[in-house]
Parts: sequence; structure tokens; C-alpha cells
Amino acid sequence: MSRAEEIAAGLAGVRARVAAACAAAGRDPGAVTLVAVSKTFPAQDVRLAAALGAQNFGENRDQEARAKAVALADLDLRWHFVGRLQRNKCRSVARYADVVHSLDRPELIDALDAGAASAGRRITALVQVSLDGEPGRGGAAGDDVPRLADRIAGCGHLRLGGLMAVAPRGGDPAAFCRLAELAATLRTTHPDARTISAGMSGDLEDAVRAGATLVRVGTAVFGGRPPMLLR
Ligand SMILES: *Cc1c(COP(=O)(O)O)cnc(C)c1O
Repeated sequence: MSRAEEIAAGLAGVRARVAAACAAAGRDPGAVTLVAVSKTFPAQDVRLAAALGAQNFGENRDQEARAKAVALADLDLRWHFVGRLQRNKCRSVARYADVVHSLDRPELIDALDAGAASAGRRITALVQVSLDGEPGRGGAAGDDVPRLADRIAGCGHLRLGGLMAVAPRGGDPAAFCRLAELAATLRTTHPDARTISAGMSGDLEDAVRAGATLVRVGTAVFGGRPPMLLR
């Protein structure tokens, strides 16, 4: 199989899974955006996926993401930054990212807004929520969501998109329901913040059932990542 055929098969498989999960949940498949997580894979793989209709791509390291965004600037792609963010990277991320999923501290919000302002861009920002309370994995406590969301909404160069989470280690379908409850509460004060970013290769069905509007899928689209680069 050529690389193009592998990626075509991966994308078709993931699209079918999303469609089946939506059908099972009585949801419109058009209501779930697929973000193909291209971290560790070369820009050429992204180009192949884009030729097959993928438009949204996810990355988790600034240097790698920026290089791909530059190499693929001829395509009209939407870049999603899904990894842990450091304050000193916000300025760089703000130059290419359309959506940043991992805002979990006020100082990151302020730094991203400042970066977007100097880049002359408006960026969609999601509050990352921790569903397991493990500090090493990122994400704010549920109680902090309103404060962080209000802060984003008050930024001139950010648009509050909604919430993002990674499932707890070992998986827990109920965790996505907690995320959906937090998202419903958020919409009472920020009705346009409708994005629920949840679900990866191993658990996208659980996430779609719980109401995810965006799934972030790497392995099932592009194949396994080399062990040294698992991240
Ligand atoms: C790598 C990554 C994904 C994709 O994971 P897969 O299991 O390869 O689908 C999704 N979200 C985040 C935050 C990631 O870092």
C-alpha cells in the first residue's frame, strides 16, 4: 500500500466510526469535526490527508507545528494546538494556530491574547478541563472553568470556543459525561461556546455518545507513532 492509500484507509475508517457513533446517538454526523492529529508525522502526510478532504490538523509541539504550518502555507488548513502550552511559546503558537485547546491557566490566556494581538489574528480558545485531577496531564479543575472562560471571553483577540479534555488513564466513559455537564453549564453564560473537544483513536465513540463536537484522532488516521515519539 502506498502512504496515500494508508492514509485514505485511515481517514475512511475514522469517518465511518464517527458516522456510526453519531447514528447510534441520534446525532447529525455533520455536528462532529474531525481533527487529524499529525504530530510526529511529516508535512507530506498532512498534504496527502488534505488532498483527501481533511482540513483540520492537530499538533502538540510548537516547533514541529510551526514548521508544518509554514511548509503547508499554500493549503488552506486549520491548525489546532492540542498539547501542553508554555507561556513562552504562546507568541509563536499565536502566529499559526486557529484553535488552541489547552488553556488551563490565566497566564496562558493572557500570553496567547497578547500573541494574537501582535500577529493581528483572532484565535479560538478552549479551556482544558482535567477529568482525573492528575496535575501532570494538564487541565483545570471543573470549579475553575467559569473564571477561565470569562477571562478568555474578555480578551480582544480570543474567541471562547468551549471545552477540551483528555480521558482519564484507563478510560472512563462517565468522564465524558462530566465534561458535557460542564459544557452545558458554560453555555448558560456563554451560549456561543459550543465546542466539546473530546475523543481520540481509542475512545471517540464514548466521546461522541456523550456529545463531543470535535474529535482529535492521530493513530487511527496516520498509523502508530514510533515508540520514542509516543506523546
Ligand atoms: C496525540 C493526541 C491525540 C491523538 O491521539 P491518538 O490516540 O493517536 O488518536 C489527541 N489529543 C491529544 C491532546 C493528543 O496529544
